[in-house]
Amino acid sequence: METLKADNVYYWEGKAKRPQEGEFIKLMDKASLLVPDKPIIPFIEGDGIGPEITPAMIHVVNTAVERAYGESRKIIWVEVLAGDKAEEKTGERLPQETLDFLKEAVVGIKGPLGTPVGKGVKSINSALRRAFDFYSAVRPVYWMGQPTPIPDPKRVDVVVFRENTDDVYAGIEFFSGTEEARKVREFLIKEMGAKESGFPEDVGITVKPMSEFKTKRHVRKALRYALETGRKNVAVIGKGNIMKATEGAFINWAFEVAQEPEFKDRVLTDPEAEPGEGQVKLTKVITDQMLMQLVLRPDAWDVIIAQNLNGDYVSDLAASLIGGPGFVPSGNIGEGYALFESTHGTAWDIAGKGIANPLSLTLSGAMMLEYLGWKESAQKIYSAVRKTFEDRVGTPDIASGFRKMGEDAKEVSTIEYAQEIARRID
Ligand code: NAD
Repeated sequence: METLKADNVYYWEGKAKRPQEGEFIKLMDKASLLVPDKPIIPFIEGDGIGPEITPAMIHVVNTAVERAYGESRKIIWVEVLAGDKAEEKTGERLPQETLDFLKEAVVGIKGPLGTPVGKGVKSINSALRRAFDFYSAVRPVYWMGQPTPIPDPKRVDVVVFRENTDDVYAGIEFFSGTEEARKVREFLIKEMGAKESGFPEDVGITVKPMSEFKTKRHVRKALRYALETGRKNVAVIGKGNIMKATEGAFINWAFEVAQEPEFKDRVLTDPEAEPGEGQVKLTKVITDQMLMQLVLRPDAWDVIIAQNLNGDYVSDLAASLIGGPGFVPSGNIGEGYALFESTHGTAWDIAGKGIANPLSLTLSGAMMLEYLGWKESAQKIYSAVRKTFEDRVGTPDIASGFRKMGEDAKEVSTIEYAQEIARRID
């Protein structure tokens, strides 16, 4: 297979390299970053299509940085291992070296990682999330000209902030018929006043924890983002009418954050208020209402603040409006630490064929550039990607999407598509 070579990419050879020409990003007070002109950015290639889409992303990001800043800025890419490649080379799926390197580098990017089924292997994605306390999963969903299932997709431009550490994903579960389930059931009925009718003997139970501290730090991040980027309409969602102690509390805590000195004058909570310059409006929306609104009037919302499970549903629905997860970037963000990643999986069915769509990871690369404050280079990527759609060129999934719309399109490989994007960066 053809490869995209670059002299600023240091692949893993026995260990992660520490190139002389690069410097680590520094984490400063209040989770702000001090970004050198040549930051070392670790990357995890990923499993399945990862080795195809990662070089494509690097090629596009390198070209954009070079066109935006000439020789004065450059990313120094260092490969760290995780997933299948890590297991093959080191015997471990997530080596300590990778965790240490990501910590030192503060910001990184990764391709998709698979979880082998039935081997008792834990998800690396959740291990990374826990290790760095990436408490907000941020997913901007916007249309760039690709084929989509809805008319007028330019109405979709929304950023979903999904809480990443709480909720039913905590994995506290008791299976029907086990001694644990029996004990929990008995406790709930005997000591907590739960009705037996709601807890038959064969019940299985999943616990849904939601904390004030975790909710509030997530909400603050989303509100700061909305204020910094001039997005006006912010929704906090949940089924607070049903789950009062968790999703209801989440919504209440969000409104308490809006009253904090940092936000009081800038976050309006009166449903009739019109946010002015430098202000946003925070509105409570029931989750099922939000799912309907996203389809019927997607332009109503600029930012959606969600719990873990609701955020999962909402971000996938939003993504499908603009063509699916293959077109959506994402960032896992904590107190300064950030790991950007493609939203789709390892796509083993097409791996090795050179036809994977590299956009989700490439746009995650652009999102990472914005996070570093290198906005000019990110903008260059966005406009070049738009041009490829205008010119009807893309990987087979994109080309076939255009053909379904009755339009002709040029079908190219993953690498060729990266080159087509790079060629359009001015
Ligand atoms: P998947 O996204 O890998 O594949 C679903 C379908 O979409 C497949 O037909 C695939 O060919 C297609 N597809 C996905 N990405 C594509 C791309 N870039 N270009 C063209 N077509 C693409 O989802 P899955 O099959 O449910 O998951 C496979 C594995 O990926 C699982 O082990 C899962 O755990 C893992 N996964 C990882 C992440 C992550 O690392 N963030 C996310 C989702 C799934």
